[in-house]
Amino acid sequence: MADTFNAIAQRKWIDKFTLINDENTLISLLDRFDLGYLISPDGKLKQRTDFGLGSDLDHEDEPEPEPFCSCGSFRRQQSCLSAIRREIPDYEPCCKHIAWFKRFRDYLVKRSQLIEAQRGHNATKATAWFYAPPEIGQEHGRFSIIFTKHGQNAPITKWQQYRSDEVFTEDDAWDLFDSMIDNGYVPFPHTALPSIAHAFKQS
Ligand SMILES: [Zn+2]
Repeated sequence: MADTFNAIAQRKWIDKFTLINDENTLISLLDRFDLGYLISPDGKLKQRTDFGLGSDLDHEDEPEPEPFCSCGSFRRQQSCLSAIRREIPDYEPCCKHIAWFKRFRDYLVKRSQLIEAQRGHNATKATAWFYAPPEIGQEHGRFSIIFTKHGQNAPITKWQQYRSDEVFTEDDAWDLFDSMIDNGYVPFPHTALPSIAHAFKQS
């Protein structure tokens, strides 16, 4: 993740993607350099060129925007959607990218609700998480968490390692995020908290 070829290339290109306003050009660029996929989790809005008096009146029959991802799996499902729907009538195409995005959005909503419930005060119960991507020759990265009941700005001496005898990887991340929030701990990426950022070492 952090410093793979794709991640470096994505960081380098990310500001430029918005300059490309043709979707097919963007998708072919992403494909050509293996930079990832174009995902529209809420569907694509049609380009509107007919703004003017009364122009809204004729749009009631337009189909609802449907989610889209440019990855091969999603596009294959789209291309044989009518065949799939003969067997499973309500089937909607999905892929791991759309599933990931929905999961991430659920997490952000739950995290915001937890912060909201604390009425804008600094989180009393806080966790900070760190992820180190897999090293060369290793299958999994390392995911670790520290937590405190003394607020997110507490000095490092007030934090404890979560289940320090266990090794967590990216496969555990969502379950851990859920359980942090379910237990009332607001998760922060470690880089968001200057008082503890140095506690995690890259290696
Ligand atoms: Zn996809």
